Amino acid sequence: MKLENIALFDMDGTLCDYDAGLFEKLEELRSSDEPTFHPPIRSNAPEYIKKRSDLIRRSEDWWENLPRFQLGWDILEVAKELGYRTMILTQGPRKNPYAWSGKKKWIDRNLGEDQDVTMTRDKGLIYGKILVDDFTGYVERWLGWRKRGLVIMPASKENEGYSHEQVIRYNGENLEEVREAMEKAKLREE
Ligand SMILES: [Mg+2]
Repeated sequence: MKLENIALFDMDGTLCDYDAGLFEKLEELRSSDEPTFHPPIRSNAPEYIKKRSDLIRRSEDWWENLPRFQLGWDILEVAKELGYRTMILTQGPRKNPYAWSGKKKWIDRNLGEDQDVTMTRDKGLIYGKILVDDFTGYVERWLGWRKRGLVIMPASKENEGYSHEQVIRYNGENLEEVREAMEKAKLREE
């Protein structure tokens, strides 16, 4: 059986700079006597920061206008050069339909209306030869079903030190290593 050469691309922390977008809005809403807060928002973040972040994320417009994240775009470029069919694979938040529509608008604006996209509650269900994703939780879930799948992981503070034999962490300096692995994956048939 010939496997289709599909490369799946996450959005937040891969193609979109979610943390930078959130930081910018939090700064706009910050009063001059409050401390600066840098995302990611963890469970121990102050309550008012969590609530402001929720309000920000309820704006479709905010999702649509997130800045690009260069590491993901480097990998996307390689995928296109190698002739992969690229597919956006992003999680739609359970309780936030504005994110679903804002994400689609971001894709239209940055990648064009013809870009393939899967918005899902469970990334582990979706086939690809390659997954490009920064979040270790989704990566492990996806690899659980794919003993030979390849993951390219854009580096972040959150995934620092992560290692797995099927995962290459890309930090902006090892694009050749990424390209070689993606080339090899393309030749693989089951
Ligand atoms: Mg992500």
